[in-house]
Amino acid sequence: MTAVAQQIGDPRLLINGELRESESGATFDNVNPATEEVLGVVADATEADTDAAIAAARKAFDETAWSTDHDFRANCLRQLHDALVAETELIRQELIAEVGAPLLITYGPQLDAPLADGLLWPAQRIATYPWERDLPEGNAFGMRSWRKVAKEPVGVVGAITPWNYPFEITINKLGQALATGNTVVVKPAPDTPWTSTRFGRLIAEKTDIPAGVVNVVPSSDHMRGEQLVVDPRVDLISFTGSTDTGRRIMAAGAPTLKRLFLELGGKSAQIYLDDADLETALGMASFTVCSHAGQGCAMPTRMLLPRSRYEEGLALVEQSFKAVGYGDPADANNIMGPLISEKQRERVLGLIDAGVKEGARLVLGGGRPSHLPKGWYVEPTVFADVDNSMTIAQKEIFGPVLVVIPFDNDDDAVRIANDNQYGLSGMVTSGDEGRALNVAKRIRTGTIGVNGGVWYGADSPFGGYKASGIGRQNGDEGFEQYLETKTYAGGL
Ligand code: NAD
Repeated sequence: MTAVAQQIGDPRLLINGELRESESGATFDNVNPATEEVLGVVADATEADTDAAIAAARKAFDETAWSTDHDFRANCLRQLHDALVAETELIRQELIAEVGAPLLITYGPQLDAPLADGLLWPAQRIATYPWERDLPEGNAFGMRSWRKVAKEPVGVVGAITPWNYPFEITINKLGQALATGNTVVVKPAPDTPWTSTRFGRLIAEKTDIPAGVVNVVPSSDHMRGEQLVVDPRVDLISFTGSTDTGRRIMAAGAPTLKRLFLELGGKSAQIYLDDADLETALGMASFTVCSHAGQGCAMPTRMLLPRSRYEEGLALVEQSFKAVGYGDPADANNIMGPLISEKQRERVLGLIDAGVKEGARLVLGGGRPSHLPKGWYVEPTVFADVDNSMTIAQKEIFGPVLVVIPFDNDDDAVRIANDNQYGLSGMVTSGDEGRALNVAKRIRTGTIGVNGGVWYGADSPFGGYKASGIGRQNGDEGFEQYLETKTYAGGL
């Protein structure tokens, strides 16, 4: 174990308030993707452990006041916020070590941004949310009744998370699911278990959150996620991950009519209309695609440039990509570290290969950087002359790879942007905001930035159209994702 691992990396499960080993005693390795070294281990939850976690969450929901005591929940969320804030710098180190997250990105979306309001916004919303509303007196079938509509938690939530932004995704799932009165079983991605075991320890040691309300079961076996999906005691699956796994979860959840909240993949477009200030706007092109090595679902990895300004734009993109600092994620000059695993690197290199074979022009990168022999790195890569029907324009690559596609006019840009199974996010840039907005309104995605606007925040709904998912994280729409509706009527 390295020195870092002694300060970070809790190896224990949290089940029914107890921090403990797996019942089998088995552990699995947590590997640093920048060095390929084993950082340490984590308990490997078995089927029996996961079963115990589900039973504990069920009991805590059915038999404690957690689901009804609004003030208590708000206080618990604030306690957890304070506990996380107190360990911010350790979390930062942990994210750099287990995720390969660049230090620079931890000051934004990887840590500081979600930490600021991921628990506090839902905690505040508890006090202001309209948990009940009255309907006018009813007279159905000649019978007078008072009527009201109440919002109640869904029950037990299975929270299944990916490896790319483990802190951001876990805090946003927990904040909203707990604020609304649910109990939770967290099943993190096997590549990044420590972020969630830290949540588990802090919940157990630093908050009054009752035993069983939150359980954390990392496992090397993806089937522990499926166990949550098929178990009838779990009411809702809150899943962030790939579209393929999302489809499988929908199918596996059908027999129990599982409520589903799915945050899936993306292949978002960044569109520059022909009146855009390309010189200014394209300076950021590499950041939007290479930060965290392209391992972000909402990254705009298809660039649409007007045919009339294509070569001018491409030259600026090339310049921007050549300036990307990458390598050791702990180095503050790098916006890009490694990919999470050798498997992901091989997948990304395979897709780059498909781009070359299908006739796209490789402008920059495309391989493994020779100066970084250790770690799962891929060079910042740009493809030009891409047709939107090519594999590299249609598939989510999840690496630092930009494809640049020409378009003829605004209608053509909208057509190309929408010609993809995904519908997660996007950007439109124009010298005329009204024109940019007209294009933005026609793009079929759950979020979209106009002229550099940033939609992210705990109060701001985020999620996908089409194959990018069902439902929303954050904002009131996210809050309501975790609620059921009950209508009462009383005879008069
Ligand atoms: P993944 O789908 O392979 O795994 C995600 C999680 O699902 C992991 O915890 C995994 O163990 C679990 N899992 C795997 N098979 C399962 C099954 N059959 N049943 C239940 N759970 C199962 O995704 P990943 O590779 O970890 O993450 C990358 C993907 O996540 C990308 O496609 C990315 O776009 C997507 N993502 C989406 C968002 C979003 O908000 N839309 C955010 C981050 C990542």
